[in-house]
Amino acid sequence: MTDFKLSFQSKLPKLETSIFSVMSGLAVKENALNLSQGFPNFESDSKLIELVNKAMINGKNQYAPMPGIISLREAIALKMFNLYNVSYNPETEITITAGATQAIFTAIAAVVKKDDEVIIFKPAYDSYEPSVELFGGKTISVQLNPEDFNIDWEKVKGLISDKTKMIIINSPHNPSGRILSKADMLQLEALLKNTNILLLSDEVYEHIIFDGEKHQSAALFPALAERTFITASFGKTFHNTGWKVGYCIAPAYLTEEFRKVHQFNVFSVNHPTQVALAEYLKNPDNYLELGSFYQQKRDLFLSLLKDSRFDFKPSTGTYFQLLNFSKITDESDVDFAIRLTKEQKIASIPISVFNEAGLDTKVLRFCFAKTDETLIKAAEILCNI
Ligand code: PMP
Ligand code: GLN
Repeated sequence: MTDFKLSFQSKLPKLETSIFSVMSGLAVKENALNLSQGFPNFESDSKLIELVNKAMINGKNQYAPMPGIISLREAIALKMFNLYNVSYNPETEITITAGATQAIFTAIAAVVKKDDEVIIFKPAYDSYEPSVELFGGKTISVQLNPEDFNIDWEKVKGLISDKTKMIIINSPHNPSGRILSKADMLQLEALLKNTNILLLSDEVYEHIIFDGEKHQSAALFPALAERTFITASFGKTFHNTGWKVGYCIAPAYLTEEFRKVHQFNVFSVNHPTQVALAEYLKNPDNYLELGSFYQQKRDLFLSLLKDSRFDFKPSTGTYFQLLNFSKITDESDVDFAIRLTKEQKIASIPISVFNEAGLDTKVLRFCFAKTDETLIKAAEILCNI
């Protein structure tokens, strides 16, 4: 192609390729163990795969209804009722999306206007900020204390203005593995009550929670639920991130706006996987056992790392573990992550890329959604560093 370029202003001039693509690409090139991008290296339940095959053979191969098939939306409503004792109307309050990423993007697109402010907590999942900016909004970042990742709600209160359109929370939190407590949610509820501020509660790791803790969904708090888009991902729950199926739950007046964008953003989502997921959700064990499944992996990984030179606090949710390397080197986290991938053949995610102004706390994120064999190999490498 020619080098000619029209005079053209990028809408996201400073945005680089997502760190997940960069590190996974490097892991493949370097033939390294890939504990960077968050995805399992084991298969989804064969029963679920059979259900997708069956749906395809049964002719569920044309467009699904725009908001998703009703049986799947009903199954999600039932799950919400059984877990949190809250009633969402599957007709008007639940929409199936192409993964949580699309749910997040669509919710932001539906409500954020030019000059609106959206409060986010850093380190933050990398899709929030560009999605807000694309629609002319501005993110106001709160950098979390790197020791405990606690939220200072007084500080948040001080950042709220008449421009604040939305707050985005994520619990269990990627990348810290921290969870929001009931006290956190009550403080947030008190802060937002009697305001017009919306909440986006990214709950993709809802079922990956450890040590007997309970997930504090925004759905449990009435003054939050009335203003919240909850986003969720089957990819995280059923080990099939490549299927890209998730959903958004929101009160009818918000779902109406959400669907106005959704219908031209994707129109509708992959049909046979929806049929399969609706059937698979009928057995709650399929998601209720996820916490103990991943807790065993976390415990295995950390027990093997106990004599390493990395410092850590056990993750309380998600399938990520942070490891602090300040006793090993004073390199930047990005340089160290790249060097580990090239020289030691193990890939991770440097968390400065999710921090405000690239704050480097000498911490790498490792994904433990891996077979025990991979975790053992990974720990062997890490213990030799
Ligand atoms: N939110 C968070 C916090 C995530 O870690 C991810 C990543 N997987 C997503 C949203 C996106 O989920 P999905 O793969 O379903 O788009
Ligand atoms: N959520 C995954 C992670 O945090 C990756 C998602 C993606 O690659 N966009 O690693």
